[in-house]
Amino acid sequence: MTEDIERLAAGLEDGLIRRRRDLHRFPEAAWTEFRTASMVATVLLALGYEVRLGEDAVCRKSMLGVPSEEELAGHMERAVSQGGDPDLISRMAGGLTGVIGELRCGEGPVVALRFDMDANDLDEARDDDHRPWREGFASTNPGAMHACGHDGHVALGLGVAELLAGLKDRLEGTVRLIFQPGEEGVRGAGPMVDAGALDGVDYLLGGHIGFRAPRTGQLVCGVGGFLATTKFDATFTGVAAHAGAAPEQGRNALLAAANAALNLHAIPRHGQGASRISVGVLNAGQGRNVVPPNALIKGETRGETTGINDFMFERAGEVLAGAARMYGVDLVLAEVGRSVSGQSDPELAAVVRQVAENMEFFKTSEIMDSLDLRGSEDFALMLAEVQRRGGLGTYIMLGSDLAAGHHNARFDFDERCLAPGVSLFVRCVLGCMELPRRV
Ligand SMILES: [Zn+2]
Repeated sequence: MTEDIERLAAGLEDGLIRRRRDLHRFPEAAWTEFRTASMVATVLLALGYEVRLGEDAVCRKSMLGVPSEEELAGHMERAVSQGGDPDLISRMAGGLTGVIGELRCGEGPVVALRFDMDANDLDEARDDDHRPWREGFASTNPGAMHACGHDGHVALGLGVAELLAGLKDRLEGTVRLIFQPGEEGVRGAGPMVDAGALDGVDYLLGGHIGFRAPRTGQLVCGVGGFLATTKFDATFTGVAAHAGAAPEQGRNALLAAANAALNLHAIPRHGQGASRISVGVLNAGQGRNVVPPNALIKGETRGETTGINDFMFERAGEVLAGAARMYGVDLVLAEVGRSVSGQSDPELAAVVRQVAENMEFFKTSEIMDSLDLRGSEDFALMLAEVQRRGGLGTYIMLGSDLAAGHHNARFDFDERCLAPGVSLFVRCVLGCMELPRRV
């Protein structure tokens, strides 16, 4: 069977690359993945998967950082004009762009695989040094780019779907493929967990192309060290006034935000582990001679454990509120994304290693059991949900040569990792199906 899989996966290679490049041309950021999700659902339905969409896949109440109704409507229209299925897209109204496909094949364990679908808010490089531009598959959507490789993840997921559907008669268990929106800003996983996407899952696999495995042929079997994180928007509202004639009548939101920005970075470090704080955006003011009535901070906290991140976010709230009080301005603090800390299960990582060691593509010396991410990934929320119920999960890193770092306008990965990636995931699913049920 393993030779069959290798051969079948190799046969998919051209299709995988074509699909990745098509997705790359039409990138969609968090909660606007209408075209991508409709394409995923179309393929899954054609392959005979039971498909869950809309509120069956995403819990509306738990969604954070959702674009306005107007923006969403514009993105839905664009998705249809770029070839998305209008009926499927209408079922995703409100940004419910998660898709779950399930293939039931007997009594064995439930094995879930998660693939994220969203692009970054970034303009792609447009010159001949950048392969996607040179070869005609660069982003056609202004302000959006697949600069993290999630286009590759979707291609991998659909390749896995196709291959597993072809092996249906030889499977003993249930395969659940989770296509997640909004990984950027850690927004999409929580609402899918709350919609029950992980219910009954015995084994969960997820992964990323590149990142801490920046060479083709490398593999990390069990990534750990996910940082817990909270993303927030702090909006300060003051009172505008003539800066020359009557500054005393104003309430200065710019100074409140500037003070908050400096003092957020003065929150003490934590004795129990690593923490982070970052103010990434500060916009304020309207005119040179107007006391600034408005300011916006976009920031984030992180912690090695969920408790440390909670400490950071609570202190951040105090600093923001204190700064607002000092200048007599109003503050609205909105949480726009969150994830928890987490570790892959070594037991499941060992299954990945065993599979990889039997594949020519991965050199044994390039296979790592574990590695700390030292970043955040909302896969950790899914992992925690599965582990809480007694299941096991692991997050892999599929090595790829990279043209530039993730989230860079020149990011591109090595498509040679796609077919072996499909083979790896499929063989891991089969490996999990030989293990006992846990949930
Ligand atoms: Zn990513």
